[in-house]
Amino acid sequence: MSRFSKSSLDGMAAIEVSSDLRNDIENIADGVFSPLEGFAGQDDFDSIVQKGRLKSGIAWTVPIVLDVDEQTATMARKAGEVALVVSGEKFASLKVEEVYGFDRLKCAKAVYGTGDLKHPGVHKMTNMKDKLLGGKILVSKRIAGSPLRKYRNTPQETRAEIERRGWKTVVGFQTRNVPHVAHEMLQKAALNIYDGLFVNPLIGKKKQGDFKDEVILAAYETLIDNYYPKNRAMFVTLHTEMRYAGPKEAIHHAIMRKNFGCTHFIVGRDHAGVGDYYHPFAAHEIFADYPELEIQPVFFPAFYYCKKCLTFANERNCPHGPEAREELSGTKMRKMVSSGEMPAEHLMRPEIAKVIISFKEPFVP
Ligand SMILES: [Zn+2]
Repeated sequence: MSRFSKSSLDGMAAIEVSSDLRNDIENIADGVFSPLEGFAGQDDFDSIVQKGRLKSGIAWTVPIVLDVDEQTATMARKAGEVALVVSGEKFASLKVEEVYGFDRLKCAKAVYGTGDLKHPGVHKMTNMKDKLLGGKILVSKRIAGSPLRKYRNTPQETRAEIERRGWKTVVGFQTRNVPHVAHEMLQKAALNIYDGLFVNPLIGKKKQGDFKDEVILAAYETLIDNYYPKNRAMFVTLHTEMRYAGPKEAIHHAIMRKNFGCTHFIVGRDHAGVGDYYHPFAAHEIFADYPELEIQPVFFPAFYYCKKCLTFANERNCPHGPEAREELSGTKMRKMVSSGEMPAEHLMRPEIAKVIISFKEPFVP
């Protein structure tokens, strides 16, 4: 969503963008979205939508675009270069190379695999404005002053840190949740195999009832401080929104982690899915279409505590049925927050439960 601002900044035409888009513009500038250098032109856009690749053939599955109304498009084309602003503050400029239209529903179906307007990604795409602006961007001012900024590192920084630590193999872990012991055990199982663990929670717009970003951050800080060996885990935040594009987003998630320097990436069951739009293993199978990605997907099954095995287990190594499993449900988590009742210690670390309870309202309202 964007609109044209008639009042110009330094004589430059300006387009107001959302703070979500601002994050993605910074991601382009920082190389998180490498090889993108700006908003896709029409050839790239069509190729991303139809083939899940840029026109050059390089893997890219999720379009990153700036949509504007007809009038703004005309003015932007005339101006040639526009300022990108959030709340009236200029933070970047866009060299307008292309202005083009697109078929919203057709694109939504191609990216999300469904035309159902109840799907959040389809809903968003079908509500986009008529025209897209393509062109290179230049960021002049970073988002400042946010405590959420503390762990936002660029790929250049994370690669240098990985090098400094001497890690040859690094496994990326995507999350949008606070860590349960089950997540910790999965990460530690990965640490048995790889030199380093790259914990990379997604910070940005979430669904109602999800944990707030600051809660996820505080919970992971606590986990890493108390339960991980020094120098085996790296904690960096990824500032972009969930698109719920299932398999296509799994590829997008892997590309970003490759850019950060990961050699491997854990892809979950129904990774980046929502509702039952995607087959649980579609996000695994799609990697067969991208054998050239310089990052290996790792298909770890979800972990749970098994009362019969007396340990954390998963479908690959435990023969017991669901009745033997103990898992922390959303209901239990909400109860913990509302009544202050601590969950069982083997399901959530008490230090982490305390951190979560210390927030007045830990969920997205
Ligand atoms: Zn078992």
